[in-house]
Amino acid sequence: MKRTVICPGSFDPVTLGHIDIISRAAKMFDKVIVAVLVNSSKKPSFTTEERIELLRKALAGFDNIQIESFDGLLAEYARKTGANAVVRGLRAVSDFEYEFQMSLTNKKLNPDLETIFLTSRAEYMFLSSSIVKQIATLNGDITNFVPECIHDEIKKRLASNV
Ligand code: ADP
Repeated sequence: MKRTVICPGSFDPVTLGHIDIISRAAKMFDKVIVAVLVNSSKKPSFTTEERIELLRKALAGFDNIQIESFDGLLAEYARKTGANAVVRGLRAVSDFEYEFQMSLTNKKLNPDLETIFLTSRAEYMFLSSSIVKQIATLNGDITNFVPECIHDEIKKRLASNV
């Protein structure tokens, strides 16, 4: 049986923290679906198309990763795509409560769906899309936080938001 996992998120924009989790998942599973959440309650800074395009460029070297947008319930999306698991990254204790609640809810809605947590690499513990946006809009250096191939694009796009 082919093992498919979903990495859901806002990716607004994708950071090295995301890439770390996604690439580790790609080693563990046959196929990874990176699912970009459309109707996020957080108002995204990048459009869904922009977020997908940045992910495509950043993950171009992988042949078992598929990038899609998704809307609605993750438990249903997993059923539709035939995924058996969801991977989420855990940074600090502050992530835990929300993630635990989501995982239990998804299990209730789709008992076949497992949630796997990968701990963040120590150097990315503090890293989030919001931090990248804050630094870039203040014209700071985001070199160590986003993939090199999309660095200039993110920087330019966020600088124009000031
Ligand atoms: P969401 O709004 O669903 O949390 P994000 O884009 O913020 O979407 O995150 C998507 C996934 O990537 C989540 O599982 C999140 O925990 C993980 N993630 C984000 N940043 C990091 C990081 N620096 N280290 C590890 N995991 C991370």
